[in-house]
Amino acid sequence: MKDVAAMISRASRLLLISHVLPDGDALGSSLGLMHLLTEQGKQVRVFSAGPIPEEYLFLPGMDHVSDELSKAGDQDLVVMLDCHQPERTGQVSGPFLAKQPSVAIIDHHQGEVDFGQAAWVDPSYAATSEMVTILAQEQGWNVSPQAATCLFVGVQTDTGSFRYGNTTPRVFRVAADLTQAGAEVWPISQEVYATRPKRLRLLGRIMENLELSQEGRLALSQITLADLEKVGAGPADLEQAVETLRLIPGVEVSALFRQTPKGAIKVSMRSRGKVDVSQVAIALGGGGHKSAAGVTLEGNLQGVRRDIATRLRQGLEAMS
Ligand code: 5GP
Ligand code: MN
Repeated sequence: MKDVAAMISRASRLLLISHVLPDGDALGSSLGLMHLLTEQGKQVRVFSAGPIPEEYLFLPGMDHVSDELSKAGDQDLVVMLDCHQPERTGQVSGPFLAKQPSVAIIDHHQGEVDFGQAAWVDPSYAATSEMVTILAQEQGWNVSPQAATCLFVGVQTDTGSFRYGNTTPRVFRVAADLTQAGAEVWPISQEVYATRPKRLRLLGRIMENLELSQEGRLALSQITLADLEKVGAGPADLEQAVETLRLIPGVEVSALFRQTPKGAIKVSMRSRGKVDVSQVAIALGGGGHKSAAGVTLEGNLQGVRRDIATRLRQGLEAMS
């Protein structure tokens, strides 16, 4: 953290970048850090390859998020948040990042880090937004209500609303501090957990496609592009579905396979905790955490599904 903090305090023009298909923590940590550093007199820009899920459009400062690197202008430091592999930030930003002379990383995902001039990567944190909050506290930066709102959303969503095993006493302390700093829990929750008919229809489709195997311990389902089109939904509408599958009593591991507009297959995996799904993801070039991981693969839906199912069955067998 010290090295990253030193690089940030030396920089005056910063570009903040997080991962594609951004979630609440990717956007919350980027925008939270943007507010914190702007207040410190720095020039800050935020890049996201998108698509931005609707529930995060309310985040203060969202209008500063750009999906064009040219608009980002010159910077003396790039901070990569909520991921540590340059290609994870997007097709255009991956090669762009590889050319940058000065990159600092703040992330809480598993895996080897071999990129950046300084990297604070620590999977003991539940959220990158939790790390940014602690960084602000250590540095003595003021946390405005806008910054607190963004960071709270990151902590809230990455802990499944303070339900997952990553919800430590430190998480509650950080959440309490952010609430104290002006994050309003109920207005935020109404935005983040708004139900949308198209998503409920999508969930219906996922439940129709549900396949339980391994004595009910493995739950698999899929969504095709045709399914998405039918309900008028996009890739950003699927964030919560795989969690719902994991919560079926008896299910130890769940996976959702979805076709992407570019013809690849995005795999989302969740475990109750006994099987480490990040191993399966990392082995195939993806990443994540022990209980939540993913990877995007070329190939057809059935082929990818068969391959992943085999790997997950092996994980389940090793456990029992
Ligand atoms: P989700 O299934 O919600 O997309 O992602 C679950 C976890 O796995 C998140 O921590 C996410 O960052 C990570 N993850 C998902 N897809 C990929 C991927 O294609 N590459 C990497 N490195 N991580 C991924
Ligand atoms: Mn995160």
